[in-house]
Amino acid sequence: MQSDLKQQLSEAVSARQSLERTYTQQFKLLAQFVLRLSLLCKGIDLELDNRLAKLRTELAKNADLEKLMPFLEETSNSLQQLEKKQQQDIRQVQQDLTEAGRLLQQQRGLPDQLRRELRQLLSTVEQPTATLQAFLPQLSGLTQLYQLALKTRQQHDSTPPDEERYGHICRQITLELTNLLSELTFTGKYTVEVEHIKSSLLGQLNIEALLDTCLRSITIIVNGINEERLSSESFLIKLNDALATVQRAVESTLQDSSQLQQKLAELNQKIEQQIDNLGQQTAQAQSLEQLKRLVIHRMSDLTSSLSEKEQLEKQERARIYQILSTMEQRVKELEQDALLFKQRLTEQNFRSLRDSLTGIPNRAAYDERLQLELKRFKRFGKPLCIILGDIDYFKNINDSYGHSAGDKTLQVIAKALQNAIRQTDFIARYGGEEFVILMPETSAQQLLEPLNLLREKIKKIPFKFRNKSVPITISFGATEMLNDETPRQAFDRADEALYQAKKDGRDRIAIK
Ligand code: GH3
Ligand code: MG
Ligand code: MG
Repeated sequence: MQSDLKQQLSEAVSARQSLERTYTQQFKLLAQFVLRLSLLCKGIDLELDNRLAKLRTELAKNADLEKLMPFLEETSNSLQQLEKKQQQDIRQVQQDLTEAGRLLQQQRGLPDQLRRELRQLLSTVEQPTATLQAFLPQLSGLTQLYQLALKTRQQHDSTPPDEERYGHICRQITLELTNLLSELTFTGKYTVEVEHIKSSLLGQLNIEALLDTCLRSITIIVNGINEERLSSESFLIKLNDALATVQRAVESTLQDSSQLQQKLAELNQKIEQQIDNLGQQTAQAQSLEQLKRLVIHRMSDLTSSLSEKEQLEKQERARIYQILSTMEQRVKELEQDALLFKQRLTEQNFRSLRDSLTGIPNRAAYDERLQLELKRFKRFGKPLCIILGDIDYFKNINDSYGHSAGDKTLQVIAKALQNAIRQTDFIARYGGEEFVILMPETSAQQLLEPLNLLREKIKKIPFKFRNKSVPITISFGATEMLNDETPRQAFDRADEALYQAKKDGRDRIAIK
């Protein structure tokens, strides 16, 4: 009996021991599992981390489930809250991704293929997911699309400014320059060149070619006007200023634009960097919390960079518009000036600068040319001579052969004098049978030779009236302009010299 009992007891003890061993083993297994699981959850939430750390310590020293119960309960609460939070996070990331995608959709100039992919990506973002990690492929997809969009944009940005940005300005200047050139009429050798410029303006000129054309046009207009001996200096100065303004404006556009290009390039780089970082960091993200923070942070960085870029481009457009309108304004003024100048030209033609009988410049033309030569005389300090010529005994011609023979004689002599002087000299019919000659860059000492040639030339003209040879002579009175006198004083001195030449017997030259 006793041995039976003993037997039973020993069996019960060993059964109990075996049970306890099994329990301890199972507990150990469970503890190890919880340990591993808790380590895996590390980093999701600080509070959870603390609770799990405590649980791990308790698990290590305690095999008593009773004692562990409070820890398990607390941890379970934490996990419940965390699950709620994760649901929120999922919604947040979903929202962030959608927003970033929409922002990208709003960018102009996206290639069609990219647009389609983006739409598809966004439709998958909208589908419900159980975990944050489920967004990782979509996040990396979106990152790739951003990179693609950025590349497209950079290619677009790096197209040469001539074609893209300044096409409009070029077209404006071209149009206005064409108008300006057609406002003025050109004669002689410039006709061909102006026609050439006009036809080149019909094509598309880049900014450098256009600037060249602007400068060439100024030169032609200036020369053309000089040639016409219509020295409307104020117009020329205005014209010059206006075209110089256009030039400066275009230059500064190019300069500013290259600065802006650099700014945009830097910004592009920054955005690219941000996208790169995002890609790298999402790949390395170790916890959901970290991933979430990263997504929110990076997306807001990207958004602000993109809107900064948008802002820069907006500014650039505004600036170009501003420059364009300034230039338009300047060229409009120029057109006005050209119109005024044209009116003056017709006025002057009406007033006529040519002598109607002989066709050489008249007294008004002389007055105008004298002003120009005086300016040069003062500016360059080169000598300037004024010469008066008067036909000898001209009254006799009229009296003997009639007034129309006299007229004819005047025409022949005027033409002969005009043809004999140098290109830089100037001759006008001053009145009656009197001529005035301006010889710039000629001193009194250098006068005798050319004046003698003129005198001889007139004398040698074989005039014939009523079948009779009638030699006609001319007398000259000349003087060199002094620095501190008025042109009137010099003119009077030349007149005195002429009187002297007449007194001394005519067909001669007197220099005072
Ligand atoms: P001198 O040698 O002193 O200059 O003698 P002159 O006869 O040339 O000088 P004077 O001043 O006495 O006469 C100028 C004449 O020129 C008077 C006028 O009949 C003539 N004359 C002036 N203008 C014209 C014109 O347009 N046509 C014609 N046929 N004769 C003119
Ligand atoms: Mg006279
Ligand atoms: Mg005379």
